[in-house]
Amino acid sequence: MSEFQELSQKIRARVREVPDFPKPGISFKDLTPVFGDGALQRELCHALAERYRKRRIDTIVAIESRGFIVGAPLAVELGVGLALVRKRGKLPWKTVSKSYELEYGKDTLEMHEDAVKLGHRVLVVDDLLATGGTAGATCDLVRSTGGEVVEAAFVIELAFLEGRGRLEGIDCPAIVTY
Ligand code: AMP
Repeated sequence: MSEFQELSQKIRARVREVPDFPKPGISFKDLTPVFGDGALQRELCHALAERYRKRRIDTIVAIESRGFIVGAPLAVELGVGLALVRKRGKLPWKTVSKSYELEYGKDTLEMHEDAVKLGHRVLVVDDLLATGGTAGATCDLVRSTGGEVVEAAFVIELAFLEGRGRLEGIDCPAIVTY
């Protein structure tokens, strides 16, 4: 996206591509060099805050685990609440849950049932959009508790996997596209 053009180049230059991790054929996009760079992290947070400051966001819903690293500082910067979406069995209180298809088998995501209030305007945040299964299930969780998904934002999108097709009707800005 043009508003992120300069930042996009800086982040792309720092993403470490790890071939065949966690399994053969996957090129893992390692963001730890970006997270390890204080100035770049701040720039990332400020760029996202700039986009959402006037969008009346009530809650940021961040997806385990690298989504927490992007979502938490953004929530602080915007002065809005943070809700966590985690893998099954990690959250201590009553949850809503959603299963979604993986390449092999299924996975389940959970969110506290009181994390998103009725009518809340929600921004979903994760580090990376691949097939869209994770983000799609997260948007379903938000809607199941009465929230409205304003957008789903990512640092990286693997466009060739066409993940936005599973997020129909939701705008999905990404800072770097592969
Ligand atoms: P998906 O549900 O297929 O869109 O996968 C998205 C989730 O898996 C995100 O939480 C990412 O952190 C992780 N992920 C999937 N593919 C990659 C990849 N190539 N590099 C890094 N993380 C990935």
